[in-house]
Amino acid sequence: MRTHRIAAIPADGIGKEVIPAGLRVLEALAGRDGGFRLDVTEFPWGSDYYRQTGRMMAEDGLETLKGFDAIFFGAVGDQHLPDDITLWGLRLRICQGFDQYANIRPTRVLPGLTSPLREVAPGDIDWVIVRENSEGEYAGHGGRAHRGHPEEIATETAIFTRAGVTRIMRTAFEIAAKRPRKLLTVVTKSNAQKHGMVFWDEIAAEVARDYPSVTWEKELVDAMAARMVRRPRSIDTVVATNLHADILSDLAGAVAGSLGVAPTANLDPSRRFPSMFEPIHGSAFDIAGKGAANPVATFWTAAMMLDHIGEASAAARLMTAVERVCADGVLTADVGGTANTEQVTQAVIAAIRGAN
Ligand code: ATP
Ligand code: MG
Repeated sequence: MRTHRIAAIPADGIGKEVIPAGLRVLEALAGRDGGFRLDVTEFPWGSDYYRQTGRMMAEDGLETLKGFDAIFFGAVGDQHLPDDITLWGLRLRICQGFDQYANIRPTRVLPGLTSPLREVAPGDIDWVIVRENSEGEYAGHGGRAHRGHPEEIATETAIFTRAGVTRIMRTAFEIAAKRPRKLLTVVTKSNAQKHGMVFWDEIAAEVARDYPSVTWEKELVDAMAARMVRRPRSIDTVVATNLHADILSDLAGAVAGSLGVAPTANLDPSRRFPSMFEPIHGSAFDIAGKGAANPVATFWTAAMMLDHIGEASAAARLMTAVERVCADGVLTADVGGTANTEQVTQAVIAAIRGAN
């Protein structure tokens, strides 16, 4: 029997509710018919750990995580601690430490959910946004001069490297090639930013030669934002810089219905290190401890993780179960229902067992 080693880090807020729910669902899938087992180790890292130890994760945390096949992550953030400590001390440390340079965000309107776009029905939107996660506008390069003076200036320089752009482009073409429509939109702002963005376009054309089955096109980021709203069916796979994809993926999440259903993967496609799978939402302290969190984002995240570790049929079974439960109207309050986390979890487990 195949065994996969999973590191679970629930961390903060509703992460502590949705990750245990996700683990139960994964266990139901592995079960007797799954053909695999999961060897799960839970780590108590996060803001409470910080209050006890002065660190967000164990000192040798990255070394420990290295040996796992995947990291199943909840949410990080605390009302009383700054992001510099929480986010940077845990989540970003893992992303950077393991060179998880590709942030993958699938977007779909699940059955039973409503998009704020009037004319969008479930099934109309099926996008994957590939975000460059390691350089670009968030490289932290720049500075301030003449502070407080009328002539004060601030610079924020985007850094794009041939290696960095090529690898994200390759990841995007790989993903597009595996999807039914084989359509990739490369988003830039090359009409206004003539160095880095023209560089993106050039590298896209170079990498495209290795993927003749993929139809690809260029789109400017402003036009892309409008297109996501006006012609959502014309989009399939999208690749964009750190900043552009950050903005577009929030738009995508809004178009799909709720933060509570949006998953993401921080991938190291080279597979030198474990990749990290997490719901997009944060710790959401306003609903933490109430059993009200929507676990669907985490279940979808778990499906992405299964796919990544080579359990594609279990991933498909999980998504079928989630879609059935949503279609049946077993929904939490954020998506207009009355169910709690436990009820949605039990319904998904029952749907998985029913399908066996
Ligand atoms: P962070 O600071 O880490 O971003 P946050 O507390 O700002 O966390 P978000 O995750 O950004 O919370 O979510 C914003 C709001 O959306 C939450 O306050 C919550 O009301 C709602 N929300 C987010 N995730 C879920 C979920 N899984 N189920 C239900 N509601 C959610
Ligand atoms: Mg937030």
